[in-house]
Amino acid sequence: MAKIDLDTVTKRFGSGGDAVVAVDDVSLEIEDGEFVVFVGPSGSGKSTLLRIVAGLERQTEGDVVIGDTIVNELGPRARDIAMVFQNYALYPNMTVEENMAFGLKMSTDLSDDEIETRVRETAEKMGIGRLLDNTPGEMSGGQQQRVALGRAIVRNPDVFLMDEPLSNLDAKLRTEMRTEINRLQNELDVTTLYVTHDQTEAMTMGDRLVVLNYGELQQVGTPLECFYRPKNRFVAGFLGSPS
Ligand code: ADP
Ligand code: MG
Repeated sequence: MAKIDLDTVTKRFGSGGDAVVAVDDVSLEIEDGEFVVFVGPSGSGKSTLLRIVAGLERQTEGDVVIGDTIVNELGPRARDIAMVFQNYALYPNMTVEENMAFGLKMSTDLSDDEIETRVRETAEKMGIGRLLDNTPGEMSGGQQQRVALGRAIVRNPDVFLMDEPLSNLDAKLRTEMRTEINRLQNELDVTTLYVTHDQTEAMTMGDRLVVLNYGELQQVGTPLECFYRPKNRFVAGFLGSPS
């Protein structure tokens, strides 16, 4: 099971008077299967927090617990996590099938047949079943993003991290992919941490919203709670709450 517990997590870059406190004493419990959206202005520590959960960055202080395991000492590969970023970086010379199978080949001992079956099933689920033999350059941005999502979920992770995954897409595709991501998340019941600076995504996608500023938690609550009962002026201003 993959609840996530952040316990007094701080991340400083640099040292002494020049240190940047990217994440400032953040404590947060995320339920198994919950969809939590992190919002805040540029530089508020959203990506750093996600990278800490992923094991790509090591916190300066505090503990990260995934399931029942303190993962502080575990690198990204040892954490059962999938990630999708803004620049989804598919392998350009590999087909969709190869892109989706690559991580499975590296990280599991499934047979080639089992991998092929899982890749096909996931591709169907994502609506890219007919693109399996195509390379990324032959596809639209939206299709590539579906492949990136498919590649992430084909491993059946306990935790799904997304850092502004839709910000390179046009408005129409963004709307479509919002729905798609929510549908997938429901279906897979995977604990999801989603970073965005987009108001609509913040208000509509998650079970709970986490508002950050200068690395500090400003408010944690349902989107409606944060919007209608902002804890401070920053939250009110950032979410455009009625005054
Ligand atoms: P966000 O994703 O909300 O825009 P980030 O987590 O990227 O914010 O950055 C938070 C703060 O940490 C910023 O002040 C940023 O400049 C700083 N920061 C992020 N990564 C590094 C790094 N590798 N080295 C030094 N400072 C960094
Ligand atoms: Mg960021």
